[in-house]
Amino acid sequence: MLDKNISQLIDILNPDHFTINKTDLISVSHDESSLDGVIPELLIYPETSQEISNIIKFCYKNEIKITTRGAGTSLEGNSIPVKGGIVLDLSKMKQIIELRENDLQISIQPGIIYKELNDFLKPYGLFFPPSPGGSSDIATIGGMVSTNASGIYSVKYGGTRDYVLKLKIITGTGEVIDIGNHCVKSSSGYHLVGLLCGSEGTLGIITEITLKLKGLPENYKKIAYSFPEENKAVSAITEMIKYGLDISAVEYLDRHCISALNNLKSYGLEENPVIFLELQGSEESIESTLSYINTICNDYNAKELILKNNQNPWEIRHHTTTSIKLLKKDHTIIRNDIAFPISKLSILVEKCYDLAKEYNLLVHTFGHVGLGILHVLILADKNNKTDWNNAQKMNETIIEYAINLNGSTSGEHGIGISLKKFMEKEHGKALDLMIGIKKVFDPKNILNPDKIFPNQN
Ligand SMILES: Cc1cc2nc3c(=O)[nH]c(=O)nc-3n(C[C@H](O)[C@H](O)[C@H](O)COP(=O)(O)OP(=O)(O)OC[C@H]3O[C@@H](n4cnc5c(N)ncnc54)[C@H](O)[C@@H]3O)c2cc1C
Repeated sequence: MLDKNISQLIDILNPDHFTINKTDLISVSHDESSLDGVIPELLIYPETSQEISNIIKFCYKNEIKITTRGAGTSLEGNSIPVKGGIVLDLSKMKQIIELRENDLQISIQPGIIYKELNDFLKPYGLFFPPSPGGSSDIATIGGMVSTNASGIYSVKYGGTRDYVLKLKIITGTGEVIDIGNHCVKSSSGYHLVGLLCGSEGTLGIITEITLKLKGLPENYKKIAYSFPEENKAVSAITEMIKYGLDISAVEYLDRHCISALNNLKSYGLEENPVIFLELQGSEESIESTLSYINTICNDYNAKELILKNNQNPWEIRHHTTTSIKLLKKDHTIIRNDIAFPISKLSILVEKCYDLAKEYNLLVHTFGHVGLGILHVLILADKNNKTDWNNAQKMNETIIEYAINLNGSTSGEHGIGISLKKFMEKEHGKALDLMIGIKKVFDPKNILNPDKIFPNQN
């Protein structure tokens, strides 16, 4: 039976914009993490800011919990409605509000998918760079802003936050507020836009987004190298970054990732660690950067990897997470996406293999490492208590190790549910400031509750 408040909320909704069908509710109960889902009581597909404002005002009055959702591809339980209540699915809010070509800016609704946006921009010679590695064809721009997502091109162009100029948000009281402006640089007041980026739906619901754009590069070259050892591959990347080479994308995959990819897609790749690179610019600048890269790779005993049928390395990279997920039946992924200063990359990768050996677990390391982000995916059998506990312990050790090296719990996936316990260690007293800010935007804690902060329901 429906809760009385939820029934009253339904009475004020557009009848075409909600469902209480069990299958629909189950479809939004989980994200792409391996955490258990929670079924909400009501799923709403709003289409305008005013509609959302009315819903939030009702929820504020009646203390109904709300979880906002884009495509549900988050990896840390960020979009799981842990407290039940309602899910606001914004995937139908897909309008391009205005393209301002001369300013290299676009204003859009949040439900547009990353790839859809760039397909729209291509004929104008423009693009929005921070392409998330394996979810670019599903993740919404609203979800990317809310997690401050990054991707393969972020080593050159930066993450999502670097592109957001202005937002329309609905706060936890239902107030509609415009924050930011259309200026590429401004010194006017607090950077509220920066605060909302990466706030995981805990401060406000984002209903309009103005983004800066970049011009598409005139030329590009994609290239791959195979290394004899993981340590050599990551050391080569560290050196490329240290020397400030103009690299547009550099991705590292360890030998276990390559093995998982071969298993899923029969690529027939030699099972050694690889790096995939993309250079962009004039032909001369690409050639000049490439000669430095070749020298560095030679120093680390790499050989160029010729991909069969001219295969696009980014297509291979795209399947990495899925290939690991499907590798071992009955095994589950325990993951992290630590961030750190680039000089710590090889120490961290080494630590992961030492721990994998100690706990006898299969670990995969890969990611946008040029940016100082490493994804560590451990496979463990949930039904084998020792295996499962060891995997949890190993994951915690890696995250704490990264924090101790001046790193961060999350480079791009956000905190969600699974990483809350590391917030105090990473942020200390700054966590109290964050909790205070949450109260200003969402006084009754109805927006995506029980996320980011430990000990807060
Ligand atoms: C295979 C795979 C590969 C991935 N690769 C990358 C990668 O390379 N880089 C990367 O950064 N991430 C990656 N991710 C994680 C994920 O795709 C990103 O976090 C993405 O930005 C989430 O978008 P979404 O639309 O799915 O958001 P959701 O999962 O629906 O939501 C994510 C968070 O944002 C909040 N939210 C969503 N929309 C709004 C809104 N309009 N207003 C307020 N809050 C909102 C939700 O409440 C939730 O907390 C990957 C995921 C998968 C499954």
